[in-house]
Amino acid sequence: MFNIDLHCHSNVSDGLLAPAEVVARAAANGVHALALTDHDAVAGLPAAQAAADAAGIVFVPGVEISVTWRGQTVHVVGLRIDPAHPALAAGLAAIRRGRIDRARRMGEDLARSGIAGAYEGAYACAANKEMVGRTHFARWLVDTGHAPDMRGAFRRFLTRGNPGYVEHQWAALEDAVGWIRAAGGVAVIAHPGRYAFNAREIHLLLDAFRALGGEGIEVITGSHHPSEYGKWADLARAFGLKASRGADFHAPGEGIDIGRLPALPHYCQPVWQGWAELAGHSSLTLA
Ligand code: AMP
Ligand code: MN
Ligand code: MN
Ligand code: MN
Repeated sequence: MFNIDLHCHSNVSDGLLAPAEVVARAAANGVHALALTDHDAVAGLPAAQAAADAAGIVFVPGVEISVTWRGQTVHVVGLRIDPAHPALAAGLAAIRRGRIDRARRMGEDLARSGIAGAYEGAYACAANKEMVGRTHFARWLVDTGHAPDMRGAFRRFLTRGNPGYVEHQWAALEDAVGWIRAAGGVAVIAHPGRYAFNAREIHLLLDAFRALGGEGIEVITGSHHPSEYGKWADLARAFGLKASRGADFHAPGEGIDIGRLPALPHYCQPVWQGWAELAGHSSLTLA
């Protein structure tokens, strides 16, 4: 049985494991093919590729790009990208520059609510100093006793209407999809069930994404409750999009582990169908 996981994070973004450790964990979990998809960063791909080669698992170079669409943040996963492509590299570098300023503003906003030192604390938690994000703030809030756990940190802080949340303009959808396609990759909308869009807005998003050359949506993800899988599988089919599968693993004990997900519904068209690097595995159905 073929186990593919096309969404996970290392400490190059907001995961806790180094890229080679993420790959080792995937191999230990029985994953045959893995994409590392760090937020707005591709610096972990060479080490992950080397570790995957050594472990004998198929590696798919990936990224998860932060986008603002209709005033909300949407994540677009790029799979099979060439990370050296100049347009992609420049676009991601610009997003990372924006993150630094945003992290400072988040720290100032928390300070106004009486929580001092959050920026410095989150910065210290981040292995990659270009990639301080809300997860680092959340881990610091938990470590310092301001929140009971990660869930509580995001419920009380860091989300719209709460201390530590600041508005931020990420990339345009058109740009993110354009960079991924220019870099030879396949664009996939990450965890579509997590956005605060109504049904009409979801339809508009899927239409716009498809018109730009986007090819897939995540159907099976750690962010979807099993009761939602069918809805997203149906929408993928209705909008002519392929289906992806990824745990969105960040750290041991935080959320779903790598590769520990159910199979795609049988009527989905897998986003990985026809990928040459999976030859030898491709005749197998998904675990
Ligand atoms: P950022 O890109 O800096 O805004 O951070 C977004 C990241 O925060 C996501 O990729 C998740 O890893 C994490 N995150 C967002 N909401 C939650 C939540 N409710 N619980 C746990 N982690 C979350
Ligand atoms: Mn994350
Ligand atoms: Mn995401
Ligand atoms: Mn993710």
